[in-house]
Amino acid sequence: MSLSYLTPEFKVLRDYDKCINCKVCMRECSFEVHSYDEHLDKMVSNDMNCVNCQRCVVLCPTQALTIIKHPQTFKEHANWTYDAIRDIYRQAETGGVLLSSMGNDRPYPVYWDKMVINASQVTNPSIDPLREPIELRVYLGRKPDRIEIDENLNVKTKMPPQLKLETPIMFSAMSYGSISYNAHAALARAAEELGIFYNSGEGGLHKDFRKYGKNTIVQVASGRFGVDREYLNIAAAIEIKIGQGAKPGIGGHLPGEKVSEDISATRMIPPGSDAISPAPHHDIYSIEDLAQLIYALKEATDYQKPVGVKIAAVNNVAAIASGIARAGADYIAIDGFRGGTGAAPKRIRDNVGIPIEFAIAAVDARLRSEGIRHTISLVAAGSIRNSADIVKAIALGADAVYIGTAALIALGCHMCQKCYTGKCNWGIATQDPNLAKRLNPEIGYKRLVNLVQAWSHEIKEMLGGMGINDIESLKGNRLMLRGIGMTQKELDILGILAAGE
Ligand code: SF4
Ligand code: SF4
Repeated sequence: MSLSYLTPEFKVLRDYDKCINCKVCMRECSFEVHSYDEHLDKMVSNDMNCVNCQRCVVLCPTQALTIIKHPQTFKEHANWTYDAIRDIYRQAETGGVLLSSMGNDRPYPVYWDKMVINASQVTNPSIDPLREPIELRVYLGRKPDRIEIDENLNVKTKMPPQLKLETPIMFSAMSYGSISYNAHAALARAAEELGIFYNSGEGGLHKDFRKYGKNTIVQVASGRFGVDREYLNIAAAIEIKIGQGAKPGIGGHLPGEKVSEDISATRMIPPGSDAISPAPHHDIYSIEDLAQLIYALKEATDYQKPVGVKIAAVNNVAAIASGIARAGADYIAIDGFRGGTGAAPKRIRDNVGIPIEFAIAAVDARLRSEGIRHTISLVAAGSIRNSADIVKAIALGADAVYIGTAALIALGCHMCQKCYTGKCNWGIATQDPNLAKRLNPEIGYKRLVNLVQAWSHEIKEMLGGMGINDIESLKGNRLMLRGIGMTQKELDILGILAAGE
């Protein structure tokens, strides 16, 4: 098609008083926005290609660059918005499904921001985390119905396998293929240093990262990439991936051009072949089938590893979670509709699933009402943005959280949402060796450690403020939350009172 009706989304502003023609921006932009015009003897820009990743802005040595939203607009229309019109132009030109990356960016209510946290005043005095110990350690896994202790106070009961986390934060599943080798290296090392876990995602585990097995959760997804006995046994836990928040109910596809020699060896598929993850597991059509896979994985690992199940947050999530608990899983990870992804159809990402806040509250309440809450741990995922979100998630019933997008932002992601192009200028969501080496895993791992340590300290401060000295005592403690600006129905589902009550 000859003429595109699309106009640039962003505009590159260059301050020519500051620009020294060093061409750093030209070298740094994988989207080929900047070029040097010999005739004019100055740098020029092709605004049409700019995705606002801000790589050139950050690296320009004279701060000569600014990216703004392009002022070109359509006649205002409350229904036919700028995005609605542009999406139709794009599909009319390509005939294809619209792809996007990272999480749902529609302006749905963010329920984290409609909840506030309690603090002690006068009675039940607060605790100063700098002077008194506050415990953040959590154990994920099935807990026995009761504990028996012998005369020497040793625990006689045989404990099912547990995952010990020094702080209730883990790095969520991101496959090698969707993110770079260096991003995985940074996540693995940070998990080891922090005493937490990172997750291989569904693409297998690179041989270089097997040394981090004690801090690794490996996934078994519908494509079964990279799964063999060694893969299962090297990890601390195994996670069956049924769904993810960004694309509930559909599969995944890593295009053949991204399947390099290294990725093909990790996924155990031929180089250059498309890596297709079917929408369902072709051997799971019921809770009984899921139970069979859970026990096959337990059998393959001699009942030494917790086996979790990851699902997307959908309407009947509480009933599904109950079934998963009864199928013998040790933990369930629930991914809300804002969960990130390397690539997802935009319409699915933006319109399918429910917020994690409701899902976690509904699941915790259901499992408690059925008397089986202790048989399974809950991990909340999908848009955990800061330590307050974590405190709220745990007060709603989570044992721990997964962070994905936040971890990538710590590594340098600027949320341009163009991961699916494979041209990530920050070296994160790319397999281009020249781009991937922009992410220094040594620096990346320190930034991740800093982030998790900072959040952990903030969690201790909030716990101390509530007069609580152990994160376990916050779990499902909804009295510590109040809602602002919510309907009674929303408050009821979350199981919290309104502020002032
Ligand atoms: S795509 Fe990124 S690096 Fe390229 S011009 Fe835009 S902001 Fe700069
Ligand atoms: S990972 Fe890279 S491509 Fe993806 S949103 Fe972040 S900066 Fe953009």
